[in-house]
Amino acid sequence: MDLKVSTQICPSPVVEEAEETQVTPASPMYLILVHGGTTGTMFRVGRQTSLGRAVDNTYQFHDATVSRRHAALTVDEDGAAWLTDLGSSNGTLLDGKRIPPHKPARLEDGSRVQLGGSIILKYVSLDPCDERFQREMFERTVRDNLTGLYNRGYFMEQIGPLCERNKLRKLGTAVLMVDVDHFKRINDTYGHDVGDAALREVAKTLRESTRSEDLVARYGGEEFIIALPVASIEQALDRAEQIRSLLASRPIRAARKEFRITASLGLSCTTIGRRRTINALIATADIALYEAKRTGRDRVVDAARVLADGERRTESCDALAV
Ligand code: GH3
Ligand code: MG
Ligand code: MG
Repeated sequence: MDLKVSTQICPSPVVEEAEETQVTPASPMYLILVHGGTTGTMFRVGRQTSLGRAVDNTYQFHDATVSRRHAALTVDEDGAAWLTDLGSSNGTLLDGKRIPPHKPARLEDGSRVQLGGSIILKYVSLDPCDERFQREMFERTVRDNLTGLYNRGYFMEQIGPLCERNKLRKLGTAVLMVDVDHFKRINDTYGHDVGDAALREVAKTLRESTRSEDLVARYGGEEFIIALPVASIEQALDRAEQIRSLLASRPIRAARKEFRITASLGLSCTTIGRRRTINALIATADIALYEAKRTGRDRVVDAARVLADGERRTESCDALAV
């Protein structure tokens, strides 16, 4: 797996958040998610690590039974780790037993920590070899085999937290549905292996035209999905247009064949102050994608425009009916 792929990891799992306050014991300590989300997610433990549902925790858990500020983990001068329940509604369990609120309880290597009803984490030290193995297992869970991009399941799990982080930065979130045009013809003309190679090239272009804060995934087949933090709809349209033109301009070379592909893009956007559910964002991006196909392919269509046109049409029909 190439490095660019690994650096695309969005903040949740690994390392960066607690970096400044990391302790340096013989082997780094992690909380590994064993139940209640993408199992195998690795949360590196720093001197002070907070756990809860609110976005400003060191690590955030999207589970209704987890309190906004649920528990804290502190590592003392001797490297001993202490878990404190912060008065959570549904409690914190250590090795199956509920710990009293606001009273630090000592964690051992291998301890099991439960937050609320379903989040279960294992506290473990990982030597470099175990750490590599654990990371590899995690990557296999969240990535698409063919392209190395995130898979759909991981995208769906991460888009909510991404929207919340963007909101905290006073940004909106744009969702782009990207569907390769007439892809069946590529398979029919050059064969399935060349089709696979073309999908890998598309993924490479998407990685190169996005940033580490963006979330890029293979949604299924020859369809990809991207979530981007944006300050305005104009910025979202610019980014979408850049992606479209890059895809259209790069020749695909595979098995001594050379050809070009294009893609259609549907864009949907939350702008600041306008809340939209994740499902609505994706559904409207899909409507826009359909419109991009219908009106000739190799183009970007903004869902807001399609919906506004629809409303205008309905209004004029209503007017005619009157
Ligand atoms: P449109 O412009 O309307 O999107 O046309 P299209 O041909 O791209 O869409 P259609 O849904 O008719 O065909 C999609 C094709 O993508 C059919 C399927 O075999 C192919 N496909 C899906 N996944 C893979 C894959 O992993 N590898 C290869 N080689 N082909 C795939
Ligand atoms: Mg297609
Ligand atoms: Mg398709």
